[in-house]
Order: sequence, then structure tokens, then C-alpha cells
Amino acid sequence: MYELFNSVAFREATLQFERASRLLTEDDGLVERFKLPQRTLVVSCPVRMDDGTVKVFGGYRVQHNQTLGPYKGGIRYHPDVDMGEVAALAMNMTWKCGLAELPFGGAKGGVAVDPRTLSHDELERLTRRYTAEILPIIGPTKDIPAPDLGTNPQIMAWIMDTYSMAQGYTVPTVVTGKPVIIGGSLGREEATGYGVAYVTEDALRRFKRYSDPVKVVIQGFGNVGSYTAHKLNDMGIKVVAVNDVYGGIYNPNGLPVDELMRTVREKGKVDDYAGGDKVTNDELLTLECDVLIPAALGRVINKDNAPRLRCGMVVEGANGPTTAEADDILRERNILVIPDILANAGGLIVSYFEWVQGLQEYYWSREAVHDELKKRMKNTFIRVADYAEKENIPMRLAALMLGISRVSQAKKLRGLYP
Ligand code: GLU
Repeated sequence: MYELFNSVAFREATLQFERASRLLTEDDGLVERFKLPQRTLVVSCPVRMDDGTVKVFGGYRVQHNQTLGPYKGGIRYHPDVDMGEVAALAMNMTWKCGLAELPFGGAKGGVAVDPRTLSHDELERLTRRYTAEILPIIGPTKDIPAPDLGTNPQIMAWIMDTYSMAQGYTVPTVVTGKPVIIGGSLGREEATGYGVAYVTEDALRRFKRYSDPVKVVIQGFGNVGSYTAHKLNDMGIKVVAVNDVYGGIYNPNGLPVDELMRTVREKGKVDDYAGGDKVTNDELLTLECDVLIPAALGRVINKDNAPRLRCGMVVEGANGPTTAEADDILRERNILVIPDILANAGGLIVSYFEWVQGLQEYYWSREAVHDELKKRMKNTFIRVADYAEKENIPMRLAALMLGISRVSQAKKLRGLYP
């Protein structure tokens, strides 16, 4: 059945899972079971375009495992989306939920589309149709989507509305990452980036690998990259370079992050900002710095550029930004990697808060959300770092092992059905 999910991303996720599960003693067939998702739905979504023609977009919802609770995971809109990639991301959601000790299982969805090529109305029609197609398998106690690459709170609002219309009443808890006014949580928008910043601060402090002043390079300036930069800046940590798909900018003395965020919001591109030197996307990854934060696509750190990185550590804001081969090269080069399922768990954690608030219809203040997020990120970081130190293994293996073993323990208690 594996050939169905044939893709680089799926092979990478499986390889990392196997590496971690090999070190865990209890098995009882669980490794075989966890290598495949529990359920995969493939849909085709016809959309009437503004010019009157009809285009059909392929989409997926992959539910990897529900041992710990309802499925949870984002929906990605990107031209490279395929079933294997979505399955890989779903698997990693399972370990992320396990590691963060949340009552969710892992899932992911995706549509193969470049959302920047669609008008607002086309995007709405696509989202509503995709939601209608996956409707039978989602729900507040079944599977709760959220934003991911290429999707945003507006898209979550359309999903929530489409689902609610089918039920005949409003169901805010069917998605997280919604706009606040319709049941979203304060602090959700910035949660992933803030979490990445907290983990970066903890890692710098614990591993003491930095120069003075600390220099951070961020690849990607979307939701995750921009809020990571904002929080680091708040903490007094210098962000010296950032980029987006069009190119990047560099200033060894630090970039004015908030001004940059404003420029990008108004004009659309990082290099529309006038200050700083222009750098290409390849140059940015190999700039000399203390921390490199990939915060966009998967597999950007690979065997070709890993030998050339000039950072002390990599903190993975994106999902799967480092290939397994690159991971090995970085380890040999003594470059520390803080893995995705730990570093970018902040979005998922505040999604959990949003879901809880929705179920209770009792909403928290932004401060309460931030405080609770910070506490959980810091605790998770300590658990992973202590375990890695005790077992003398890389942080990625430690994080995966903690995540996998929580799911395995629960699975053993529940048993194999039937
Ligand atoms: N898409 C995000 C992730 O990969 C958030 C998932 C969620 O909030 O459910 O972690």
C-alpha cells in the first residue's frame, strides 16, 4: 500500500519515524500500523472561474491516527501538494500532538493550487467545494482543520460557514485559526511564530551557542516567519536577514522588523523594503549567523546546501524543512537542529486553546493565551532537551520518540480493534 503514498515527503517522514521507533523497545506491530495513515480521502473540486470556465482542483484529507483524540491538522493550498506529502504531514501531526500532550490525533489536508492565482471569489468557491467534499469526515469531535501554508483565517471562516450551513446551526469548533469575531482565539495568529521564538530563546540559553550580539536569519516571511521575527525583536534578539519567494534582504546590524512587516503588508514583498542589502534565496540560507530559522517550505535544507550552512543551530519553523540526509550532515558538522514538531508546535497548542474555548463558549484574554502557550512551549522544550541529553541522541530523535511513545502507550491501552 505504501506505493500509493509514493512521494519524497512521505519517504522522508517514514524514514525519520523508523529511525525513532527503532530506538523504542515496545513494538507489537505498532510500527507497521503507524507507517500508514488510517484513512485517506481524495476529492476533486470543480470551480467556476471568474471568466466562466470550469477548473478542477485535486484535494486530500489524510487522517493518520486518532488514538489520543479527534484528528487535528492544517489545510495547505500549494501547487506541489500531493497525497504523499499530505500523508507525511498528517503523520508528523500525530507525533506533534503526542509530544505536546494534547488530546488529538494527526491529520492534514491539502489542495493542489497556487492560491495567489485565484481571485477572492474563486478562492471562496474552491474552499466551499473542498469543504463540502470532505464534510462527511470532519467535525468538532471527529477532525478539526486549521490553517497551514497558503491558507488563512478567512479560509477557515468559509470552512466553518460551509460546515455550519450543512448542520443548520453554527459550529465554530469545526476549525481553529478562525477570525476572532466568529469564535477564533486571541493570540492564535501569532502563536506559531511566538512559539518558535520562545524555543529559540531557550535553545540559545541552554546550549550557549551564540556570539554577542546573537544574529538570526529567517527564511520565509509569511505568518510563521514574520511573527517569529517580531517576537525575537521584542526579546532584543537581532534578525539580520529575511526573505520570501521573490528574494531577501540582509543587514548585519539587524533589520527593523516591525517596519518590514508593515512594508510587506502594504506592498507585498520583502525586497520592496528599501533598507538592507539584497540577497538571493540561496545566499540567505548560507549567511553567517547563530540561528537559521527555515519558516516556509519543506526540504529547503538538503544535501547540497547543508555542507555550506554557516549557523550554530537550525530551528525548524516550517514542517519538514530539513531532509534526512541534511540532518546527518548537520550532525557531523555539529550544527544543532531543533525539530519542527517541537519548534512549531505553538500554532497547534493555541488551536487546542481555541477548540476548548469554543466548546466552553468561554473566551480567554490574549495575555492568558500567551502565558499558557509560553508555559507549554518551555515545558516541552525542557522535556525534549533533557531526554536528548539523557539518551545522548539528537533533539529530533528525542522529540519523535517522546511523541511516538505517548501514542504507542495509549494505543496499547486501547488495543487493536476489533
Ligand atoms: N498547520 C499547523 C501545523 O502544522 C497548525 C495545525 C493546527 O493548528 O491544527 O502545526
